[in-house]
Amino acid sequence: MDSFHLLQAIRHEFDWHVRQHQGTEVYRAPSLTNPVLPMFALDRWATGPGQDTSDIYTVMRPALQLASMWLTEDLPLLWFSHLTFGHRRRNAAGQVYLEMNPHYRTPAALHTVKDNLHEFGKTNFFAFAHPDCKEKFAGVTYVKKESMSHYREFSRTDFPPVLSDKGVYKPCICLAQRFRGAFRSTNASANERYRALFIFAVVLCHEVAHGYYMFLESGNEPLWAENEKNPELGFSWELSVLGHIPVPNGKTASNDRFQEIHAIRLLEAPSSAVRDKVLQSLAGSSRAEFTTRDASGHYRNWPVVNHGKFRGATWTMSSDAQLFIASFHVVPMHWVVSWFQKDIWEALKARWVQKKMYEPPALGQTFMAIYERTSNGVQVHRPLYPGNRVDAMILEEHRKSVQK
Ligand SMILES: [Zn+2]
Repeated sequence: MDSFHLLQAIRHEFDWHVRQHQGTEVYRAPSLTNPVLPMFALDRWATGPGQDTSDIYTVMRPALQLASMWLTEDLPLLWFSHLTFGHRRRNAAGQVYLEMNPHYRTPAALHTVKDNLHEFGKTNFFAFAHPDCKEKFAGVTYVKKESMSHYREFSRTDFPPVLSDKGVYKPCICLAQRFRGAFRSTNASANERYRALFIFAVVLCHEVAHGYYMFLESGNEPLWAENEKNPELGFSWELSVLGHIPVPNGKTASNDRFQEIHAIRLLEAPSSAVRDKVLQSLAGSSRAEFTTRDASGHYRNWPVVNHGKFRGATWTMSSDAQLFIASFHVVPMHWVVSWFQKDIWEALKARWVQKKMYEPPALGQTFMAIYERTSNGVQVHRPLYPGNRVDAMILEEHRKSVQK
């Protein structure tokens, strides 16, 4: 079994639990009023095979506005500022990481970052992957358009012009066809549309993080923070700004239905001390009591999977790591919707200014599970729900064993 099917199995096993968090609300429509950054303007999207962007641009617009917020507001931009101004240092393994340079928080630094992003946007362009492209990616950044899959099937005039001579490379960013499918779809539900827009905005910024670095420098990406295992600026951006690494739960990579979003986080746990600390901090964010029993109250032998296939795994894990903990959250719809609301952005901005720091909004009450691979085997920890018959029984057993 691979990690994708394992997550499906966990999700299926605890379906009752997941459903306890699904509201029946009709969600508010997106209310962002900010302009779309010039880098995302329609004239920065390729034309040609599989590119009917002008037909779906209005549908895409809320995602482009959200991505523009993340790339315009000072406190979310601190991630880019640290990337721009952090001092290059080498760790014991010889990897380059960025050490904090206090300048990154200054208005002058943020001004430079905004300028850089603006110039980057004049050299970069966006495209949907060619319909025959077999590569499975949500998004990919190429150092030059000639490296695009099926490049020869486009004509020269399909590509937006390079409007700046700045930048080391003139990258281009390709997005999966499944997004185009989701935006063209007439039978997607309002919530599916919302989830597609959200993942699209995330993937755009993930790729802009890569492209921005290619614009700044040649050579390999650095570790954005010293504790990262491998350089992957896109995941670093996602975790810093969203607080999570979201994964759409479609059946296949070409599926254009966005039925659910999960958030996966992997942490190495080489010793039992580290393991205890990680488990405590993960479970601590939930007020529930946890169990390793399944939905019918049995102890189950969950399959052993490798971390390599989890989204984001290569970024937080050494290649030879055997012992790890993976947390799995079902991302609640209201959290997705809140990113598209003008009043919620106003409240977030006020909070960041007051706290003098950036802080992503919490997911709130939702289902979570923890997959743990230790030297003794595999366990899945999950919270107990007093309203569930089996869980109520387990909770009662917990109480009796405490009283003894
Ligand atoms: Zn990436």
